[in-house]
Amino acid sequence: MVVLVIEDEPGIADFLRRGLESAGLVVDMAADGQLGLLSAQHDEVELVILDLGLPGLPGEQVLRRLRAVRPALPVIVLTAKDAIADRVANLDAGADDYVVKPFSFAELLARIRVRLRRPDQPSAVVLESGGLTLDLRTREIKVDGRTKALSAREFTLLEVLMRNAGQILSQTQLLDLVWGYDFDGASNVVETYIRHLRRKIGADRIETVRRAGYRMVDR
Ligand code: CA
Repeated sequence: MVVLVIEDEPGIADFLRRGLESAGLVVDMAADGQLGLLSAQHDEVELVILDLGLPGLPGEQVLRRLRAVRPALPVIVLTAKDAIADRVANLDAGADDYVVKPFSFAELLARIRVRLRRPDQPSAVVLESGGLTLDLRTREIKVDGRTKALSAREFTLLEVLMRNAGQILSQTQLLDLVWGYDFDGASNVVETYIRHLRRKIGADRIETVRRAGYRMVDR
């Protein structure tokens, strides 16, 4: 299984290569869009990390062309542009996910693991982000090294937020993911649980995005 990194900035490319290799992944690198597009067509490449600002061929073009030849290949876009319109445009162009620079390696790795997960492979058992550790096996949570007690529902809510760190999840999505789509209890249940979680893990870890939802931030 090979992860292909298409990134022209040597510092970031090196940071990614070292990080991915230390996480046990085999890494292939390309420093421009043309080469990246060619390399991505090899069958052994199972995930692509794609910078948008690339010489040769811009990342957006790489993504569009790649989608035409390998529609199912997971692509995580790296972008310095954090405007929501750009993100939506990237996703429309076929990115599975995006990470905004500067990003933490843990955040990127969590995204990669989600994309690489297979039915025949055990999923990651420990989620980590910005001083939070969630052990999915023991259901233990640590905040800056200290163990905290969470109810089952709080735990699941936190797990969903951490698995989607950096992305906005609407109330409806959270209801579907944590309570189930047929939940017909109080409409403010998400708000209430977010408040409980904030009290236990630190309020600034969960951002409220007005009229959109909530987002886990890596502070
Ligand atoms: Ca670049």
